[in-house]
Amino acid sequence: DPTAPSTAERAPASAALLARARAVTPGGVNSPVRAFRSVGGTPRFMASGRGPTLTDVDGREYVDLVGSWGPMILGHAHPEVIAAVHDAAARGTSFGTPSENEVLLAEEIVERVAPVERVRLVSSGTEATMSAIRLARGFTGRPLVVKFAGHYHGHVDSLLVAAGSGVATLALPDSAGVPAEMAAETVVLPYNDVAALEAVFAARGEQVACVITEAAAGNMGVVPPDPGFTEALRRVTAEHGALLVSDEVMTGFRCSRAGWWGHEDLDVAPDLLTFGKVMGGGFPAAAFGGRADVMALLAPDGPVYQAGTLSGNPVATAAGLTTLRLCDDAVYSRLDEVSSTIREAASEALTKAGVPHRVQTASSMFSVFFRDGTVRDYDDARAQDTEAFARFFHAMLDAGVYLPPSAYECWFVSAAHDDAAVERVLAALPGAAAAAAG
Ligand code: PLP
Repeated sequence: DPTAPSTAERAPASAALLARARAVTPGGVNSPVRAFRSVGGTPRFMASGRGPTLTDVDGREYVDLVGSWGPMILGHAHPEVIAAVHDAAARGTSFGTPSENEVLLAEEIVERVAPVERVRLVSSGTEATMSAIRLARGFTGRPLVVKFAGHYHGHVDSLLVAAGSGVATLALPDSAGVPAEMAAETVVLPYNDVAALEAVFAARGEQVACVITEAAAGNMGVVPPDPGFTEALRRVTAEHGALLVSDEVMTGFRCSRAGWWGHEDLDVAPDLLTFGKVMGGGFPAAAFGGRADVMALLAPDGPVYQAGTLSGNPVATAAGLTTLRLCDDAVYSRLDEVSSTIREAASEALTKAGVPHRVQTASSMFSVFFRDGTVRDYDDARAQDTEAFARFFHAMLDAGVYLPPSAYECWFVSAAHDDAAVERVLAALPGAAAAAAG
């Protein structure tokens, strides 16, 4: 780790907190990708965020291109979101009863996402996908789940097989602690491979409860579905009586006012969709929803149990509702503008420095693979120069730009990224590209 000593000097307060954190928390972090394991150095402990920037406990400011891994679409501490949170909290932080904001947030989701007729609120994306899978199994009476290598759907036992995100960052094949019998109920296929999908359904189609897919993959870097792939998923699942679950936890309300659905020009709809991140406005709120006849199986109307002490929490729903109501056309066009400016400049700087790379997009979501050629699946994504990425990452960090600390993650922009913030990113790129060249 060539960067560690100098990083500790540059970030003494973060280094001191990390030492204390390690004494009480495994690895010193509460979610593995925060630990800088694949890039080396000291993770920055952030003290505050405002608009497009984060400030760490050493007082250094960074332009933030992580956005809390997706939620902060309006930037940090948006005044209207903060006001809604204050207002809601002052009236009580949890009731354990139904409350009005839950209805308003559910109505907003149903209005934005046409295939969603009914929606149930939960507290994390993991809960959303876990519950959607239980519901698909309950509806079909079948055991198997089909997922794609490199797709991450949260830390659900049956979905932690060949998962992306932190599992990819740490180069784990799957997680320990998932019983083999449970993993055997999950079939993992290469992404964007219709022939592999058809072969599995031909052999075991009558046992498959659902196919779950990231609407556009963002957890192995950004890998959008090939044209026609989503339609093929719909056709094959429908032919065999299986459900199609589209995981829009990352893409939802970000790729368009609905999500990837609504961005990709599709005339087919999934049966169930999962949401999180943006719809919580930086608080723990997530959801799953879809066909009314399928959702009708959920307790208390039906036999599929699902519950949560903090589900539909009044403060979280206030933050989420206010965020979604502020996400208008102007927000989406600003995201597009910021995204294309930064990714084009990144590509230009890397080209000039002679660094092989490939930039891929899903609407305003994008990532930079440190390799040549199109990335269509997890094998392609893994065949990149992660050491070049680590050098690039640290040069950006030193120049005051906070990128996701992994080559397998998407970069997120916000509507609060003004021209000054974008300029700071552009100014940092040539030096980081030179560092990546080694
Ligand atoms: N699904 C997708 C596509 C995600 O990107 C994530 C998180 O990154 C999840 C599910 C899990 O969400 P959470 O971290 O809120 O449990």
